[in-house]
Amino acid sequence: MSTSAPPLPPQPAARLPSVDRVLSTPLARALSAEHGASSTTAAVRAALDALRPAMLAGELAAEALAPEAIAQRVQEQLRARLEPRLKAVFNLTGTVLHTNLGRALLPDEAVQSVVQALTAPANLEYDLATGGRGDRDDLVEGLLRELTGAEAATVVNNNAAAVLLVLNTLALGREAIVSRGELVEIGGAFRIPDVMARAGSALVEVGTTNRTHAHDYAGACRAQTALLMKVHCSNYAITGFTKSVGEAEVAAIAHAHGLPLVVDLGSGTLVDLAQWGLPHEPTVRDVVAAGADVVTFSGDKLLGGPQAGLIVGRKDLIAAIKKNPLKRALRVGKLTLAALEPVLRLYLAPERLPERLTTLRLFTRAQAEMQAQASALQPAVQAAIGADYAVRSAACFSQIGSGALPVNTLPSWGLALQPLEARGAGRALGRLEAALRALPRPVIGRIETGALWLDLRCLQAHEQPDFSAQLPLLAQALAQA
Ligand SMILES: *Cc1c(COP(=O)(O)O)cnc(C)c1O
Repeated sequence: MSTSAPPLPPQPAARLPSVDRVLSTPLARALSAEHGASSTTAAVRAALDALRPAMLAGELAAEALAPEAIAQRVQEQLRARLEPRLKAVFNLTGTVLHTNLGRALLPDEAVQSVVQALTAPANLEYDLATGGRGDRDDLVEGLLRELTGAEAATVVNNNAAAVLLVLNTLALGREAIVSRGELVEIGGAFRIPDVMARAGSALVEVGTTNRTHAHDYAGACRAQTALLMKVHCSNYAITGFTKSVGEAEVAAIAHAHGLPLVVDLGSGTLVDLAQWGLPHEPTVRDVVAAGADVVTFSGDKLLGGPQAGLIVGRKDLIAAIKKNPLKRALRVGKLTLAALEPVLRLYLAPERLPERLTTLRLFTRAQAEMQAQASALQPAVQAAIGADYAVRSAACFSQIGSGALPVNTLPSWGLALQPLEARGAGRALGRLEAALRALPRPVIGRIETGALWLDLRCLQAHEQPDFSAQLPLLAQALAQA
C-alpha cells in the first residue's frame, strides 16, 4: 500500500473555517461549558462535514460559512440531542386507556411512592421483621389476596407475560383447552395461539367461533390435558346466535377431571364498575369465586395502575409459577411495585375511588363539566386556528380503551375543528393534526365525521392552563405543517 497520495487539486473546502476557529467563537465556548468539550468538538466537526458538499457545489453563501453561523448550527444540534424523546402529550383522542399513549395515569400516591423508590433504598427483598431475605411479591400479595379473595398472588411485567408464565408452568408439553370464540388477538401482537406455542403448550380448540357448549370442553379432556382456559374477548364482541360457557361451569368441568381452570381476564377490574354507571365487567373476585384456579389481568388497564401482569389463584399453583425460572426473567422492578402498592391500597376504600383513582375519575367525569370546559376553551381555540376552520363545542363519545368494554362508549363533550372549505378538507385536517402534534406538548385528537375532535374528557383541570398557554403557537405550527 502506497502512502504517497497524488497531490490534491486546490480545494474550495478551504473556505470552511477550521474546527478550532469555530470553537473559539463566544457561542461555541458557551456551548462547551454547557455540553462538554468533547460533545461540542464532535458537533462542530459534524456540522462542518455536513456543510462541505453544499459548499463544494457552491450552494452556500459566505455568511453561512462564518464561524458564528456554524456555531449557531452546532447549538441547534446539541439542543435537539437533549430534547427528550418521551414527551408528555394531551390525550384528547377520547380513548382514556390509550395503549399508544401509555394507558393508565396514576394517582399522586403512586407518584410519591415511585419518587421515593427512585431516590432511597427500600426493603424490596428484605424482611424488616427478621432482617433476612424477603420476596418482592410479599409487598403486594396480601393486598391482592384481600381484594380478590384468592389464596395467593404474584406479579410479572405485564399480562402477556402472566399468560406466558402460567401456561409454561402448568401446561408445558401438554394440552390447554380453549374455546374457538376466545382465540383472540390483542393489539401489539399478543395472540393466544402464538403465546400458547411459545409457552410450549399444545392448543386444543373446542366449539366454534360463535358457539361453544359445556360438552365441547368435557369432550376434549383427556390424559394429556393440563388445563382448561377462558380468555376475555377484550377488544371485540360476538353478537347474534352465540353461546359461551361461563367460568363457574367450565370450572366444574375442569375440577371433575382433576384439572385447573385458568382465566385470562384482560383488563380485570377489582370493583363492580356498574355502581358508577359504567358497564358491568366481572370482577377478579367474581371469577375466583366462580372457581377459577388461576386468574391473570393487567395492572394498567381498568385497574388504573402501572404496567404489570397480576396473577392470583390457588396457593399450590402460584407456588409452582413462582418457582419457574421464567418468573425471574419476567419479574417486575421496584418502580412497578412502588406504584402498584398504593394503587391497590386505594381499593381498600372503594367508595372513594372516583375521587382518588385517576382513571376512574376520568371515566366518571360529568358531561356538563366537560361541556363547560369546551365553552370556555372554544373562543381561544377558534382564535388560534384562524378563519379557515370552524370550532364547535359539541357532544361526543369517549371510550374506556385498552380492549376494556369495547362496545361501550361514555357520553362526553369536546371541540370539533372543521375546515370551512369543503375542497381539500382532508388535507386541511391532516395539516391541523400535524400542527397540533408539533406543539411543545403535542395535542392528539381524532378525526371523525369530517372534523378533528378534541375530546375533553382527559384534559384535567390542572392541565388546562398549559393547554391554553400553547394555543398561540398553533398559527405558526399550522403555517409550517
Ligand atoms: C390486554 C390483554 C392482554 C395483554 O395484557 P398486557 O398487560 O397488555 O400485556 C392479554 N389478554 C387479554 C384478554 C387482554 O385484554
